[in-house]
Order: sequence, then C-alpha cells, then structure tokens
Amino acid sequence: MSMTFEHITLGQRVLFGSGEAAANLAAEVQRHAASRVMVIASAAKRELAERVCRDIEVALWFDDVVQHVPVECAEQARAAAAEHGIDLLVCVGGGSAIGLAKAVALTTGLPIVAVPTTYAGSEATNVWGMTENRTKTTGTDDRVLPGAVVYDATLTVSLPVALSVASGLNSVAHCVDALWAPKADPINQALALEGARTLAAALPRIAEAPEDLPAREQALCGCYLAAVAFASAGSALHHKICHLLGGTFALPHAETHAIVLPHVLALNAPAVPDLAARLACALGRPVEAGQDPADAAVAALDQLRTTLGAPTRLADYGLTESDIPEAVQRAVGAAPASNPVHVTPENMTALLTAALTGAEPAPAVLTTR
Ligand code: NAD
Repeated sequence: MSMTFEHITLGQRVLFGSGEAAANLAAEVQRHAASRVMVIASAAKRELAERVCRDIEVALWFDDVVQHVPVECAEQARAAAAEHGIDLLVCVGGGSAIGLAKAVALTTGLPIVAVPTTYAGSEATNVWGMTENRTKTTGTDDRVLPGAVVYDATLTVSLPVALSVASGLNSVAHCVDALWAPKADPINQALALEGARTLAAALPRIAEAPEDLPAREQALCGCYLAAVAFASAGSALHHKICHLLGGTFALPHAETHAIVLPHVLALNAPAVPDLAARLACALGRPVEAGQDPADAAVAALDQLRTTLGAPTRLADYGLTESDIPEAVQRAVGAAPASNPVHVTPENMTALLTAALTGAEPAPAVLTTR
C-alpha cells in the first residue's frame, strides 16, 4: 500500500535552558517589541512568576486561573486585556494558566509567550479548551499557539512527586493517543515514540529524586515531543474521554489522564499490533518471543505506572457509579470514527467502570470495524 499523508509542522520558537527563564523571557518580550505585558499566573504561582518576570515590565497581573477554563474566567481575562491595552500575553504555570492565555488569544489575536511549569504540554499545541454548562469544548486555531515557549527545568523542581507523576503520565498519554489519532502519520508517530521513550526514562528518576535536574530537563524534552506529536496527530479516544470527564464531572486533568490511559491502551492495542510493539519497546519492554504485542505494550505501561505509584481510581477524584451512564453516552458521541476499535456503549461502560474502580485494564474483545 502506498504511503499518503498531509503533515503540518507548527511554527514556534523554543528556548530551553535551566536557570535561563528570566533572561529568555526578557529577550522574547523585546523581540515582540511589547510594552503592555499581561502575565497570567495563578495566585499560588505568583512568587515563581515574579522570579521569571523580574527583567520585564508587567502592565497587568491576572491570577484568576481555573482548570478547564470556565467561559466566565475567559471573558474576565479578555475584558482585562482590552481595558489595559495589552499587547503581549505571558503565561507562567501549568496547562490551566496556558489555557486561559489561549482563551484570550482566541478572540484578541494577542501573541503568547508560555513559560510552562508542568508536563501538560499545552504550550506546544494550537488546541484551546473552554468549559460552559458542564461541557468542555475544544477546538484548534493557530492564533492560540504560543509564538515562543520558555522551558526552564528549575521551575519544575517544586512540582510535587504525585503531580509530576500524574502530569508526566498526561504527557505519556499524548504519545500513546497520537499513535492512532485521526491525523496520525509516520512523522508524528516517530515524535510520539521518542517522547514516550524519553518520559519513561525520566519519570522514575523524578519519582525517586524530585530535585534531579537532568531528569527534570529530560522530562520537559519528552513533554515537548509528546505535545508536538499530539498537536499534529489530533485528539483521539483517550483525550475525548478525559475532556468529557474534566468538563462534565470536574475531574482533575492530569490524574484523569494517568488513570484512564491503561484502559484505552488495553482497548486499542490488540487492533494495532505493530504500533503496540513499537510502544512496548519505547517504554523499555520490547516484545518477547511469542508474546502478543498488545500484551507487551499494556505490561510496559503497567510497569511504568507501578514504578511511579500512579493513581488508579477515578472514584478517588469524585466520579461515582451513577455518573457512568452519562459519561458513556458522551464518550460514544465524542469518539473519533477512526478509532482502531469500534466504540460502543458496552465497551465504554466496561472501560469507564474499570477506571472508576481501579480494576485491571481489560483487553478489547476485538470487534471488526
Ligand atoms: P494545572 O495547570 O491546573 O496545574 C495543576 C496544579 O499544579 C496547580 O495546583 C498548580 O498550581 C500546580 N503547579 C503547577 N506548576 C507547579 C510547580 N512547578 N510547582 C508546584 N506546583 C505547580 O494542571 P495541568 O495538568 O498542568 O493542566 C491542566 C489544564 O491544561 C487542563 O485544563 C487541560 O485541559 C489543559 N491542557 C490543554 C492542552 C492543550 O493542548 N490545549 C494540553 C494539555 C492540557
């Protein structure tokens, strides 16, 4: 079969250097010739943001940062940007701060410089997300792609181990889901597999020694590879499920990804054995002689999650059994038609129930498409 695909590489400048955030940010502000900078950072991250912004003039600090970007927060931030004549958005923090900057850029076209402090990866994508009436809507628009990303691993050292693990697995999820996403191609699959390899090497070191700066640097590199792969390949089943759980049931983003991922992998891997074999290898456990590639990939992820002490039950984050029918209905409605396994109310009920209770991920009974 001939190889046919259309691949888009998003353009952005990445400035990577431990201890260099303040200098790199100042250079970016100058490069943009910006004079009215709005810094978006939660109150909890204010001190860290002030350190990062020590060499720039800030016209407005905005700290009403809420996960999954409620529409009301977006509107407040847009109004504040207009009122203060802002010409550049700087966001310092995790995906929530970056998401709010994106919401402002979506309607204003203002450029963004992102200084990420988690492994969520939003900085590398042109995907925005907002929540209204218990429904999270996502879309793509090049206006929300940060023009520059300033990575400084020293800013991530304070990320507690539990959050580092959850956020790191959110990043691994970008890699896994990209393999079978609607616009998966050999380029983004290569980025995804290298991202998975890098993250699988870095995260156990961080869980053991959170102040291991080289490991933190490696994780940020892996996070970027993962997010570029995700941005290019598009949102697949795992992301659709996690978005609905976040938007409708207010579950925390990173932990939800960490919990749901093994279940989606177990569902899809049997239908894509070649990709499963490559993923197992990337995660450090190549397929053994006679072993089923899907089993190998599931075991490799399971071993990583066990090493990291990853969360296992959505029930621990507020989902209840009575939420399952609505979640199933939304998941079936949102599932991409291109998912390797046909998505049904039955397999979504099994998947979400297992993720709720922490049951073993069940491999799909392969339904032909
Ligand atoms: P977050 O930004 O809400 O941060 C989680 C917690 O970590 C917060 O309490 C925050 O204060 C804390 N934190 C952040 N950096 C820290 C640090 N260095 N040290 C100590 N604490 C720190 O969570 P997140 O998982 O980074 O991002 C989740 C949000 O990002 C969701 O809304 C999600 O939808 C969005 N997201 C969007 C994309 C995209 O492409 N559009 C991709 C990934 C995530």
